Amino acid sequence: MHVRGEPLTIDQLEVPTPRPTDVLVEVKACGIVPNLGNVLNKFVDWFPHLSLPPLPAIFGLDPAGVVVDKGSQVHGIEIGQRVYVNPGRYCGGCRYCRIGETTSCKYFAFNGYFGFSPEAKVMFEDYPYGGLAEYMTAPQYSLVTLPDNVSFETAARWGYMGTGFRALKQADVAPSDVVLINGISGTLGLGTALFALALGARKVLGTGRDAQLLERVRAIAPGRIEVHAADSDVSVADWTRSLTNGEGADVVIDTLGPGTPQEAWLAAFHGLRRGGRHVNVGAVAGDIPIHMHEVMDNDKSLIGSVWFTTADGQEMADLAEAGMVDLSVFEHEVFKLDEINTALNVLKNRNGGFSNYVLVP
Ligand SMILES: [Zn+2]
Repeated sequence: MHVRGEPLTIDQLEVPTPRPTDVLVEVKACGIVPNLGNVLNKFVDWFPHLSLPPLPAIFGLDPAGVVVDKGSQVHGIEIGQRVYVNPGRYCGGCRYCRIGETTSCKYFAFNGYFGFSPEAKVMFEDYPYGGLAEYMTAPQYSLVTLPDNVSFETAARWGYMGTGFRALKQADVAPSDVVLINGISGTLGLGTALFALALGARKVLGTGRDAQLLERVRAIAPGRIEVHAADSDVSVADWTRSLTNGEGADVVIDTLGPGTPQEAWLAAFHGLRRGGRHVNVGAVAGDIPIHMHEVMDNDKSLIGSVWFTTADGQEMADLAEAGMVDLSVFEHEVFKLDEINTALNVLKNRNGGFSNYVLVP
């Protein structure tokens, strides 16, 4: 990107040399996520407290590929290794990085996407190569090694799936749990549902707007997944209680997209049982009226969660390798580098979370 608001262009650059603790990855697939168009053109106005890569910039959030070169201090990763590159960048030296809470780092940024504070800008200087390219450098700490049964196209979906996976872990999802996913047929919601099944959730309940998509989600695990259409006369909370002996869900994961009305967020929150855990990874914005005395009286937890660690990503790869999560539901829509502007324009036609838009350079 040279000028914000104008089409992306293809530029020829030198293939970068990795620094001592970095690797060079030949990109085989990079996710084109639904929010990318917003990040490219709208975030500068919507969220001035965030930081964006300085222009000209190479964007691209979710890359997967092969390690083709490595720095002199990289020992545990071999040339030829298939990897997903977790784009989460952090300083490594602050108190939170040193105790392993890397998403709490004040420099936390998404390589090729945006940073979560003004300070995060320095990460774009260290790592200027986003995933919409043939090659990129990446720190060794960011690499998730991929088993042979996970394709590069599927790995390019790791970011959205990882966000849901970490939300499930934040909620301590266990085999006896009923998990309600608000927005289950979307890009974030569907991946969350797949990993809720993998983690053994007894039942996965989901809401959505599109009846056909909801039926497809339900058919992934009939009897274990139940769905609720947004235009139903029955409230989400009453529907959830009708399936849980009047109690409500043990866990609610909110995955609603940007611009969704706050009422839709609250509708699922009210389906939480006494003692339940609510984790928000969706993009509903603004102040939401919550009766905090009721939250306290009923021992409910309300948690915000952002992204996931490389360790979480590796656990997901291990679950996939062992056959404990079925990732075959995705329909890969593949674009070449010179089709990136077309891809951004047709993204809105996606088949809910089932479509997986990827760039294969
Ligand atoms: Zn740090």
